[in-house]
Amino acid sequence: MTIAPSAGRRALPLRARLYRAGLDLLFPPRCAGCGRRGAWLCPACTALLRPLAPPWCARCRDPLHIAGARLCAACRVGGPFALDAARAACAFTGPLREAIHRFKYEGERARAESLGLLLLAPLAALERRGPGDVAAPAFLLAPVPLDAARRRERGYNQAEELARVLARARGAPLDTGLARVRPTRPQVGLDREARRANVRGAFAWRGGPLAGRRVLLVDDVMTSGATAEACAAALKAAGASWVGLVAVARPVGGPTASSS
Ligand SMILES: [Zn+2]
Ligand SMILES: [Zn+2]
Repeated sequence: MTIAPSAGRRALPLRARLYRAGLDLLFPPRCAGCGRRGAWLCPACTALLRPLAPPWCARCRDPLHIAGARLCAACRVGGPFALDAARAACAFTGPLREAIHRFKYEGERARAESLGLLLLAPLAALERRGPGDVAAPAFLLAPVPLDAARRRERGYNQAEELARVLARARGAPLDTGLARVRPTRPQVGLDREARRANVRGAFAWRGGPLAGRRVLLVDDVMTSGATAEACAAALKAAGASWVGLVAVARPVGGPTASSS
């Protein structure tokens, strides 16, 4: 289903403000880092966020440990890839890790706004290095889907919540047509190869026409990129001309506990 961002925006202001005020009353914002009330992440804990910085892989933005290399070891030997580029905002550590944990596993859905806005920087970075076409249409945002059972249990898909924040902030179109077509095991504890095998062929596109479109996947955490790659393959099979991914966080120094 495609959601026109302008329709949502026009209908929203008062209702959205009341909704937000109600949410804040029911669930007062509390800093994920230090527990202080009044913000989802207080200024002191925000200062602890670690934006990812070079040297990094030109394709997946993994930190590079070899001076002068352009691609990480996995990208040098693992291709060809369906996923054209991936960017995460910050390292998956400290208060951000805690904030994402609460957003994802403890029902603190209202954290979507503060976490989703962190995606603006990686989105802008991808726009700058687009394929040289200044008139290129905006990215179509496509959240990475949860499987139906996990979504029911959680009540929402965290990636979709983040994508909606980004769509509103940028006036970008959003389509939730990417679907899981078979169940997968959680990726936690699997090595890179096992992660790839676990999600290969697990996704299919059931949304609007994609021919020639540039699609941007949205997820909370990118670990090995196996999920993103399987999603990108499904989008390319449906006709997308380019597929990238933005994530709020990325573990530095190897995959750790995460579901992607
Ligand atoms: Zn704090
Ligand atoms: Zn790489």
